[in-house]
Amino acid sequence: MIEFLALYLDGELPPESRRAFDEHLAECAACVRYLNSYKATIAMGRVALQSDDTPAPSSVPQGLIAAIRAARARA
Ligand SMILES: [Zn+2]
Repeated sequence: MIEFLALYLDGELPPESRRAFDEHLAECAACVRYLNSYKATIAMGRVALQSDDTPAPSSVPQGLIAAIRAARARA
């Protein structure tokens, strides 16, 4: 899921997945907030990237996880 967000922010998602995810973000403030805090975390943590399989933080909105699953299913 972190990888999905990284691909999204880098603009490397398949177009169908990106569109599905954008549609969700357009109507879900919780996910937009999470994404913004995630971006801030990346900016601070670039130097300290350690692991690819860090579990998703517990503060991830359930809707975001669902949106990622849905977007992946469209790819
Ligand atoms: Zn959401």
